[in-house]
Amino acid sequence: MRRLENAVKSVKSEPNFDFSKHTTYGLGGRAKTAYFPQNEDEAVAVYKYLKISGEKFVILGKGSNLLVSDKYYDGSVICTKYLQGIEIEGNCLKILSGTTVQQLLSFCVKNGITGFEYLAAIPASIGGLTVMNGGTSDRRIASNILTVKVFDGKMREFSNKNCNFGNKHSTMSDINALVLAVYAGFEREKPEIVETNINYYLNKRKLQPKGKSCGCVFKNPEGFSAGKIIDDLGLKGMRIGGAEVSREHANFIINNGGSSADVYALIKAVKKTVYETTGINLEEEVIYIGEFNDELNC
Ligand SMILES: Cc1cc2nc3c(=O)[nH]c(=O)nc-3n(C[C@H](O)[C@H](O)[C@H](O)COP(=O)(O)OP(=O)(O)OC[C@H]3O[C@@H](n4cnc5c(N)ncnc54)[C@H](O)[C@@H]3O)c2cc1C
Repeated sequence: MRRLENAVKSVKSEPNFDFSKHTTYGLGGRAKTAYFPQNEDEAVAVYKYLKISGEKFVILGKGSNLLVSDKYYDGSVICTKYLQGIEIEGNCLKILSGTTVQQLLSFCVKNGITGFEYLAAIPASIGGLTVMNGGTSDRRIASNILTVKVFDGKMREFSNKNCNFGNKHSTMSDINALVLAVYAGFEREKPEIVETNINYYLNKRKLQPKGKSCGCVFKNPEGFSAGKIIDDLGLKGMRIGGAEVSREHANFIINNGGSSADVYALIKAVKKTVYETTGINLEEEVIYIGEFNDELNC
């Protein structure tokens, strides 16, 4: 344990970590400590240390799918922000989990690599995207992945099949494993064509709501669009405090100077209205961290 403690001491850390500076909602209270490992060994040491010491902790990518409570989080954060890097290893890419989509796409343009352009403008880390199996309605990151290197107390390499990729879900989300790196297949293409493809997807995304959000709040129920269900009920523009159902896309809830409690209350109010009117129980895609009050009892 002493050796582990010493290893963790040398990892960059931040006491009284402010979640609001690390989430796309710009919301969230503080946490006891955040660790920022800069390589796989550091990440493993921090994970092991927190597990052995029984400390509560969460893993943070780019914070683009999170609603973090306004209340103090009495635990630690493993932030993958500096766990970055991409290497070409034979016929696959090794991508460290904190690498952002933007960094991956710049690498693809520079090296003439195609197959990832559809991810353009998703403000995520590759680790977060993998855990959530993010992407578009046509294609998810599972389609790129060969294997995933994770640490959950033991070093493991999950095949694509063993990741059990589903609708914004994977094995990694169930077992709270730390994704260290992703191995992805790729093909070659002229850099200018890769760039054109990226611009095509960026243009498509220009219609997305502006403002602080977590993207889509609810998963699409099988065969339905959550946004359309909410829109059909006339809930666009519905507000609680500083939180508002986007007028541009009903599955987005925008933070207009509110709190996490406002956003949470609005999510639950939308869910309740949808359930009472249509019988559909929308499932949240957004991930909650910390404690929230369920005053609406949904
Ligand atoms: C404007 C906007 C547009 C968006 N558009 C899309 C879209 O088109 N498609 C889409 O799929 N999503 C979209 N999202 C949502 C979000 O980007 C994705 O869900 C993404 O997968 C989250 O990645 P992240 O790195 O931000 O993860 P975080 O939000 O930080 O974390 C998400 C979950 O993954 C876990 N996690 C993160 N990194 C790791 C790791 N290394 N190891 C283990 N667990 C980890 C966290 O603990 C948490 O449970 C959008 C969000 C915004 C704000």
